[in-house]
Amino acid sequence: MKRNIILMGPPGAGKGTLAKQLISLGLVHISTGDMFREAIKAGTELGLLADSYIKHGNLVPDEVTIGIVKERLAMPDCENGFLLDGFPRTLPQAEALEKLTKEINRPIEAAINLDCDEKELVRRISGRRVCKNCGAPYHIDSAKPKVEGVCDICGGPLYQRNDDNEEALKVRLAHYVNQTKPLIDFYQERGLLTNFDSLKGSAVLFDEIAKFLKS
Ligand code: ADP
Ligand code: ZN
Repeated sequence: MKRNIILMGPPGAGKGTLAKQLISLGLVHISTGDMFREAIKAGTELGLLADSYIKHGNLVPDEVTIGIVKERLAMPDCENGFLLDGFPRTLPQAEALEKLTKEINRPIEAAINLDCDEKELVRRISGRRVCKNCGAPYHIDSAKPKVEGVCDICGGPLYQRNDDNEEALKVRLAHYVNQTKPLIDFYQERGLLTNFDSLKGSAVLFDEIAKFLKS
């Protein structure tokens, strides 16, 4: 079984959805986006800082992001394997992660890249709704909850992320192309990259990736 996994792909490729399914394999899910959103909700200093970047679709500065991941990966629950979702997103982050995982002797064993075309990303993100309570994702056309505005799983209220608007999305996609996409080469060169087609349904995608990780 492969452990210490990186999940890559543009915003809207389905990283979060897949990560939540992969928890069943015993991997700890570490989402920098979720960590920032929790800090924002709690109104901490980190949250205030992160919010000023996230709401416009910009990346939170590397030193801040690397710092929270470093702390998180040192926690004992990461011992049996972790799944990084949304990190690294820049070359300095990838380099810092490489150094860090060497230090703690938990090397990255696979980088999973979710391919998705841009038109579909825009469709997914502009219609995305998220449960305020448990974070479960929905879509206004293609993944409706049983009762409008209410989470099927926990009954919490659904909302639209404030960076899921047209303007912030343009900025996020540009950051993806300029800063994050080059990491595909970074992991390819290290022999760690495997591509998956995110246009397949999430159940099929999960099966394929679970099989790959178990092999
Ligand atoms: P998505 O993949 O849909 O863009 P995320 O939840 O992963 O959403 O991230 C939301 C926002 O949090 C990003 O647009 C960015 O502002 C910030 N963020 C998350 N991870 C990182 C990171 N590794 N480096 C810098 N900023 C990040
Ligand atoms: Zn919920």
